[in-house]
Amino acid sequence: MTDTEPEEKAEEGGGNFILDIIAEDVASGRAKEVVTRFPPEPNGYLHIGHAKSICLNFGAAETFGGRCHLRFDDTNPLKEEVEFIDSIIEDVRWLGFDWGQHLYFASDYFERLYGWAEHLIEAGNAYVDDLTADEIREHRGTLTEPGTPSPHRDRERQENLDLFRRMRGGEFADGEKVLRAKIDMASGNINMRDPVLYRIVHASHPRTVDAWCIYPTYDYAHGQSDAIEGVTHSLCTLEFEDHRPLYDWLIENLDVPSRPRQYEFARLNLTHTVLSKRRLTELVAGGHVAGWDDPRLPTISGLRRRGVPAAAIRDFCARIGVTKNDAVVEMAALDHCTRELLNKTAPRRMAVLRPLKVVIENYPEGKTEELDAVNNPEDEAAGTRKVPFSREIYIEREDFMDDPPKKFFRLGPGREVRLRYAYFITCTDAIKDADGAFTELRCTYDPETRGGDAPDGRKVRGTLHWVSAEHAIAAEVRLYDHLIAEADASGDDFLDRLNPDSLEVLDGCLIEPALGDLGPGETVQFERQGYFCPDPVTTPEKPVFNRTVSLRDSWAKKQKKG
Ligand code: ATP
Ligand code: MG
Repeated sequence: MTDTEPEEKAEEGGGNFILDIIAEDVASGRAKEVVTRFPPEPNGYLHIGHAKSICLNFGAAETFGGRCHLRFDDTNPLKEEVEFIDSIIEDVRWLGFDWGQHLYFASDYFERLYGWAEHLIEAGNAYVDDLTADEIREHRGTLTEPGTPSPHRDRERQENLDLFRRMRGGEFADGEKVLRAKIDMASGNINMRDPVLYRIVHASHPRTVDAWCIYPTYDYAHGQSDAIEGVTHSLCTLEFEDHRPLYDWLIENLDVPSRPRQYEFARLNLTHTVLSKRRLTELVAGGHVAGWDDPRLPTISGLRRRGVPAAAIRDFCARIGVTKNDAVVEMAALDHCTRELLNKTAPRRMAVLRPLKVVIENYPEGKTEELDAVNNPEDEAAGTRKVPFSREIYIEREDFMDDPPKKFFRLGPGREVRLRYAYFITCTDAIKDADGAFTELRCTYDPETRGGDAPDGRKVRGTLHWVSAEHAIAAEVRLYDHLIAEADASGDDFLDRLNPDSLEVLDGCLIEPALGDLGPGETVQFERQGYFCPDPVTTPEKPVFNRTVSLRDSWAKKQKKG
């Protein structure tokens, strides 16, 4: 696959080979019902890569009238926390998915998993090993050389059983012993060279607390948990492809209640950001961002805080499709989905980010007019609102130039422009401070142009947004840019490559009164600038807005050209 393919897919609506497989299984009767699961490990917050998996699992269940479980893969107490469990539940729900009563934890199955492990020992399919983790690694061999059997590989069943029970009983220290499956140290697949099934970890578990000091590995717990829950299609990312023979071996060698099958798909990678919990943890723990929900992060909570609607994330996941080919999707494709949705739904408002004062000299002092403004030209039902207008207003600093080039259609000395929903104004004078910076413009308005049209048919090229000085509310606006400036954000040196300009805080912005009472998640369009939503720290006294995404769609442009 070429780099551009996922983008083309994004435009067309991506294919999904997993849905094709499930459709066949349903048609052939192999699957009587479709049961999937999303299996997060609660060792961090969810990111948009997880959203791909969530949309796939819940979407597949929905498509085929089945069900999808939310199952926590809580098998490593050293890294797992209740905070992460809670955030994951919140994020999956926010994304719009419902697991009904099917909320599970691998830890719910610890007793059954343990029983099956004893069964493996009794059947001669598992043994307790005293080798250290390093020694096990050294014995494992390489892709070209077979592994070396552990000296403990041929322990008697009874001894194994006794040792395993004493492992559970807490007689040994962390790392002193492990339980391994007895499969084939010469297997061409390294995962089949007697993989570890249980390790000793003396640590408090978020749910089972101190009931256990041995914990099953992912490989051991996962398939059996799937089998317990009656999962038919266990969907995971490609790095588990080589684990599938082990997944199947365990299912075959245990008397489990159902026969799930594992299918692998390519994980989502995005430009300009990292999508791995380990790296996200480094960013958060190292204080490089303000927390797991920092709007610069690709976490679900970060995207939510930035104002990206759940529906845009779902749309993005549908468009990128599901394939077996690893590729990097452009961040701009996600922004495109966000923009496209918000264009249809977000109310338009006026906000001036870098204000320049304008005094309209022929407008009566003390007078205020309430002008009608369209809420959303894409949605007539959104109606109109009143915007106050008065003698002193603010416009965007960059909408004025002292000596503008020909193509600059905004304000300059002697030039006439339209104030959106208001009047035509002409600039008569520009006042500078001692440093030569403009502090104020003097203008006149044409009272005949109320609403934005001249009765004599006279045209202006530019339309500016503005706020009334007397009525505007002061606000802080936070502009976000890529976490990593270069598109290729892979590599372990990502911390050295963080974009120093990923956050720009603008204080002293001025917003129209209608923006005063928005809450977090209520994303609006600041006309001519982009989409913005209040940050959770916002208050009526001190509104704080996050830029969700700018208006400029570099991705759509590139699609057209390409
Ligand atoms: P990370 O690589 O970020 O640490 P993980 O795979 O360890 O993630 P889990 O909590 O184990 O995180 O993942 C839960 C599910 O989400 C798994 O089925 C996993 O395959 C899937 N998943 C994780 N990252 C991605 C991704 N980037 N794209 C698609 N699916 C993903
Ligand atoms: Mg994992």
